[in-house]
Amino acid sequence: MRPRLVGPKGNLQGREWERPLEQEGAELQEEMVKQMEVLLLEKESLEDNLKEVTEEKNKLKIKMLENEEETSDEKTAMRHSISAQCLEKNKLIAEKQAVERENKKLQTEKKEITQEGRKNKALVKELESKVECPVCLVAPREGPVPCCPAGHITCSLCLPKLKRQGKVECPTCREPMGEGKSALAKVVIEHMEHQCSLEGCQDMVAFEGYKEASCQYRLAICPSKNPACKKMVPFCKLEEHAKACPGIIVKENLKQGKIVWLPENMVKGNKQGNDLTWTSEIFSGSRGRVFFFMMSRINNLYTLEVVMLGNEEDCKKYIMEVSVKSPDSYTDDIQARFRPRPIGPTNDTDGFCLTFKQKTLAKFWRYNMAKKGYEFMVSVKAV
Ligand SMILES: [Zn+2]
Ligand SMILES: [Zn+2]
Ligand SMILES: [Zn+2]
Ligand SMILES: [Zn+2]
Repeated sequence: MRPRLVGPKGNLQGREWERPLEQEGAELQEEMVKQMEVLLLEKESLEDNLKEVTEEKNKLKIKMLENEEETSDEKTAMRHSISAQCLEKNKLIAEKQAVERENKKLQTEKKEITQEGRKNKALVKELESKVECPVCLVAPREGPVPCCPAGHITCSLCLPKLKRQGKVECPTCREPMGEGKSALAKVVIEHMEHQCSLEGCQDMVAFEGYKEASCQYRLAICPSKNPACKKMVPFCKLEEHAKACPGIIVKENLKQGKIVWLPENMVKGNKQGNDLTWTSEIFSGSRGRVFFFMMSRINNLYTLEVVMLGNEEDCKKYIMEVSVKSPDSYTDDIQARFRPRPIGPTNDTDGFCLTFKQKTLAKFWRYNMAKKGYEFMVSVKAV
């Protein structure tokens, strides 16, 4: 505390203000020493603070440097990635341009081809009209093609008919027909499409490589044997016909088997020529395919056959399993697996089938007293 200097004008009385100077000086000195000490302490504390602050500052500096380094690494990586992306982008642009160029080229080519195609079509139409027979109005399906000296053609079916009627002149120009043949017409008919020759079919077909076997209107014989209706029916109408035909029974399937009955009088005697046929059956197999089961006994040889409503190629996709057994047995006595036969113009068994002798059958068939005959079971399925 600062010493109070009290003057004569103060309110103090007496001699208090008359304190000796030395005492006052000593007090002052003491006071100053104390203050110095306090200041020193403060200074020390401030210095400590300064040190701490400096250290903190250095730490921050180091951290900053580190961060800067990290950031610069990241920057470099990013720069690399950006330049790679730029390269990729440029590559894609170049590729796109190449594709566009190619596309343009193709468009031009397509245009040319279309124009050419149109011209060709017109030419073919013109040629086709020139090879049409003026009598039957159909383009000949086979060469050589008869023609008059002026080049008018007639088909090889109509010309003989005309000649038989005493007509020897060209139906187009009335000049004598002669014996000429048109090489040009032959080329044209070989390269044009003709209407399918099968009745009912509207398909246009190529001159060569055309197989009637695949036409829906090809004729096939009804697969019936007892009674045999022997009708020739367009392939596409056969199922409909079979379902109404008296020689064919409609079955859902033959998987579970059916009992076949054989009259006793057809077994005894066993005369040659005592042939037997059973009524055929129509049934659906897997994948909606239609099959026929046919059975006969010729010269004591039994033939069991599966006919498919399809062509040779369709039949290659199927294997049929035909089994024969006693009605009392749980296991098959005779079994065979084979391809079905495609339905065709004849009922001749020229494909795969199951055949066995009556002697073999006699080993397991069952005698039916009431019906006076023999019974055995037959089952058919696609495997
Ligand atoms: Zn004709
Ligand atoms: Zn003529
Ligand atoms: Zn056809
Ligand atoms: Zn029929």
